[in-house]
Amino acid sequence: SPDDKATLLAAMKLVSDAYFAQLEDGTSDDAKIARDYLAERGIDDENRKRFQVGFSPESWTFAVDLLRNNNFTGEVAEAAGLAISRSGGGHYDRFRGRLMFPIHDLQDRPISLGGRVIPAIASRRGDDGGGAKYINGPETRLYRKSHQLYGLQLAREAIRRGGEALVMEGYTDVVAARQAGVESAVAVLGTALGEDHIRLLKRFSQRVVLVLDGDAAGQTRADQILDLFVRADVDLRVLTLPEGNDPADFLAAQGRAAFDELVAKAPDALEHKLNRLTDGVDVTRDTHQVTQAIESLLGIVAQAPRGANLKVDQLMLRMSRTFGIASERLNQRLDQIR
Ligand code: ATP
Ligand code: MN
Ligand code: MN
Ligand code: MN
Repeated sequence: SPDDKATLLAAMKLVSDAYFAQLEDGTSDDAKIARDYLAERGIDDENRKRFQVGFSPESWTFAVDLLRNNNFTGEVAEAAGLAISRSGGGHYDRFRGRLMFPIHDLQDRPISLGGRVIPAIASRRGDDGGGAKYINGPETRLYRKSHQLYGLQLAREAIRRGGEALVMEGYTDVVAARQAGVESAVAVLGTALGEDHIRLLKRFSQRVVLVLDGDAAGQTRADQILDLFVRADVDLRVLTLPEGNDPADFLAAQGRAAFDELVAKAPDALEHKLNRLTDGVDVTRDTHQVTQAIESLLGIVAQAPRGANLKVDQLMLRMSRTFGIASERLNQRLDQIR
């Protein structure tokens, strides 16, 4: 039944394996196009297998038919996130003509999939964008994006060994990182890093470096991370890559050593925020800007949970130093806000 987790897991496994086989040795012209695209992206064979990258044929019923032939109903396909119900009855495939990235749980079982558009297939179809660049699986009984990190099943040991997790934005970043020898990379899945992700990562390490794309979305995420830094008891750092780069691009252009150096130098979330707020500001003169910066910082600090006193003290001390304002005054203002 669609309520049964074991059934959904079996359905996911069946379809994920079939997508993998399509990319591995599918004989259709599209399967060749997908392999060419993978090569163009520079993903090698070892990592294609390691991450179980696949291809979903351009068909409305590839997954639905495969499932039905194995005694899974359309309702099960839908509950697993693999199919969508038609208004007139029946189901059709969610993923069509896309490069497929399965998402595995810590027991290495596929629980969801993300699909990337393949330009040559989408343009033949006539819609040059092919719809969204990525289609991510919906939340299901198996999969909650706020609780899952792409690639964690592969990265966990390296994260434990090195005492540090790198959290990236995209599937292809994690694959490219691994291919470059960076084994501790995971990705959030079309969502922001949250407290549940941190709780999960803390099982393996105390330090988390958020590695963000050098684009507007990445910058916004970096600016919003202080909130999480205050609430979560973890050493949280943030690295925004140079303009126009994500980890995959940066590693391809600059190499592993340059990447490692940026990671090692990544400031923690507070320092990042202080840098941003004081960028181009003369703290001894621009009193208006300083007041605004302090208000916005204290507004975040005021949200800190009870028990985060140590962290709050640290934050206040660093603010005091940055702005040249006595800690007592900052603490008074914090009490007012609270
Ligand atoms: P690529 O290198 O293949 O273009 P990317 O990972 O660099 O992929 P970004 O645009 O940086 O792509 O997006 C980062 C992540 O955000 C993606 O991996 C995907 O999970 C999610 N995402 C991006 N675009 C969309 C979209 N249109 N719909 C849903 N999720 C998306
Ligand atoms: Mn991006
Ligand atoms: Mn990219
Ligand atoms: Mn990107």
